[in-house]
Amino acid sequence: MTTTSPLNEPELQRAKDLLDQMSVTQKLGQMHQVNGAGGVVTEQLAHDVRMGNVGSVINEVDAEVIAQLQSIAVNESPHGIPLLIGRDVIHGFKTVFPLPIGLASTWCDETIERSARLSAIEASAVGINWTFSPMIDVSRDPRWGRIAESFGEDPLLNARMGAAMVRGYQTEDPSQTTAIAACAKHFAAYGASESGRDYNTTNVSEHELRHVYLPPFKAACEAGVLSVMTSFSDLNGVPVSGNEWLLTDVLRHEWRFNGVVVSDWGSVQQLTVHGVAENDKAAAEQAINAGVEIEMVSGTFINHAEALLHSGVITIEKLDAAVLNILAMKIRLGLFEQHYLQGATSPYNSEEHTKEAYEAAVKSCVLLKNNGTSLPIACDQRIALLGPLADDGYEQLGTWVFDGDVSISQTVLDGFRQRRVEVNYLPVFASTRDHDNSRIPLACDAAAAADAVVLCLGEEAILSGEAHCRAELDLPGAQEELIRAVSRTLRGRNVPIILVVLAGRPLALECIEPFVDAILYAWHPGSMAGPAIADLVLGERTPSGKLPVSFVRKVGQIPLYYGQKPTGRPVTHDNYVHMDQFPMRAEQTSLGMAASHIDTHFTPMYPFGYGLSYTQFEYRNLQLSSHEVSATERLDVTVEVVNCGKIDADEVVQLYIRDKVSSVSRPVRELKGYQRISIPAGQSRLVSFSLSRADLGFYNQRSQYVVETGTFTLWIGGDSTCDLSAEFNWISQ
Ligand code: BGC
Repeated sequence: MTTTSPLNEPELQRAKDLLDQMSVTQKLGQMHQVNGAGGVVTEQLAHDVRMGNVGSVINEVDAEVIAQLQSIAVNESPHGIPLLIGRDVIHGFKTVFPLPIGLASTWCDETIERSARLSAIEASAVGINWTFSPMIDVSRDPRWGRIAESFGEDPLLNARMGAAMVRGYQTEDPSQTTAIAACAKHFAAYGASESGRDYNTTNVSEHELRHVYLPPFKAACEAGVLSVMTSFSDLNGVPVSGNEWLLTDVLRHEWRFNGVVVSDWGSVQQLTVHGVAENDKAAAEQAINAGVEIEMVSGTFINHAEALLHSGVITIEKLDAAVLNILAMKIRLGLFEQHYLQGATSPYNSEEHTKEAYEAAVKSCVLLKNNGTSLPIACDQRIALLGPLADDGYEQLGTWVFDGDVSISQTVLDGFRQRRVEVNYLPVFASTRDHDNSRIPLACDAAAAADAVVLCLGEEAILSGEAHCRAELDLPGAQEELIRAVSRTLRGRNVPIILVVLAGRPLALECIEPFVDAILYAWHPGSMAGPAIADLVLGERTPSGKLPVSFVRKVGQIPLYYGQKPTGRPVTHDNYVHMDQFPMRAEQTSLGMAASHIDTHFTPMYPFGYGLSYTQFEYRNLQLSSHEVSATERLDVTVEVVNCGKIDADEVVQLYIRDKVSSVSRPVRELKGYQRISIPAGQSRLVSFSLSRADLGFYNQRSQYVVETGTFTLWIGGDSTCDLSAEFNWISQ
């Protein structure tokens, strides 16, 4: 074993003593997770727990039921080992915080950590001690429904935000009552599912894996995450739940991960469907030998591992190591000592939780467009509030909400009413997918009678999330027709049309962008969506979110991300060729020889890191501690950021680098640091970053992490296209 135990000596001894007393069946019980029975303790479940055939239960949230199950486990099962009680607490429990992609738009690690902390406080009260979060799959395909659950396209964002969530759930001391175990998922490269279709195959080179998909998981391990979940998909032909290279060589041996590896739902049994295992027994053999330790629900371990042991294809050492890790997780969570019988109600709906949900929602909204002074709208204006998402307390919560309390949701309509704004509200459609355009004329009448129009459109929660991928990225149903009709009605009049998009993915907005004056991208902001959006629209708060993903203009641009590699024939200027004006084939034009489509711009609609404010920021005085930096030094970078406007506001300062010449091709820009700072109107702030050797390296052709000497360019600014730059040389000793 190359990993060291996370337990102290007496704890380790305790785990080993327990292990020594356990039968093989009881050991397999610890490796077996069952689905809860939906709020009841069935005879079967009670029996299995009593016999020690079950080590953990997923999807049971009734405090009384959990308490009963724990009581049976502790008082009646052979060794009194408590249960892991798992639940997908993804972006809140009762109080719902913004979707992870919205949380990522805050670019605020503290906000993310606090949202996880409060979620853990709410969930642990009913007896949940394990969440399957954070999802840190780098996501570069907006068609993929699970982009909603991700922190977007960038490895560093995923790494930092994932680590922040781990800290929030687990705290410094996971044995404290309100801490729950986190789970970094889905290891690895699940976000690279081909064509954005869920569960699809992933073909990712080791180069790409190590630079893009693995770093967030390595960071989660370094942050002490207690568990890691395997991905459903195959990685370069080897399904992850049977992938020894990934689960053992990389995770255990290279990174020294000492927590627990859990499969995804049924993913061990699905090795048979992948076509790599002939039957369930062979699937169990592959998964156990690869390094899966808890099997989520499919039961091949409990049914077949004893026979596999007898036939010698798996070893008792392998099982013992797995069970020791599981016992260690239970010990670290303090489950043996403390009140599994809390049975309390979840302490949500308090001022603290509501305020935090509001703050997170405010910070997560990204202002994409603001013609002149369309936003903010003054409070005395009459607003026509149109669209099916303006007053729907459920849909604003987004995907992966099982336990959220819809009754505490405050909608956009509520938000405006709280601010005493005169609102004429019409849902117009039954849902965002509604093609019935018969109420559009009524909506236009309402728009014509208003001083400002706020359209709350987008996608319902069900349109993103697991197995909810889309081939189109337009606004579904007749929503685009509504936008055009309202725009026609108001042509020539000074009535701003504000589009507020609630959605679980970045949509392609090119077609409708010209018809609106402002766009506020709110994702699914959670319980406090309404007050947050109303306050941003009315200027009580200033937008400060920044995009964690690039927004495409057209679906055909996918994948489009800022950190692309340079090509041999780069696009140096925008070479959009109108095909009707230039009816020639791309290769016949000199412009068309570049890495670009001939029927759209090569740039995104909105770049990574982008987001407007009601004020302007200026960046100046970029200073480097040295322009010749040696391997033992750090490079300190300082910049002055000025708030040139009349409103106090937050800015997200971003630092990017490029290694100009290296032995393998490196991205044209890479995010290496970010800070969210508050700057009062008219004032400036000095912002500093410190880069070390480790920040400048990459994996070479032999997959070794190296830092090569040479020239780097560094940029600092408010998005990934910023142009304030400097160069420095990294020199050897
Ligand atoms: C998902 C996981 C989730 C698990 C348990 C699976 O379908 O892929 O992300 O944690 O179910 O609900």
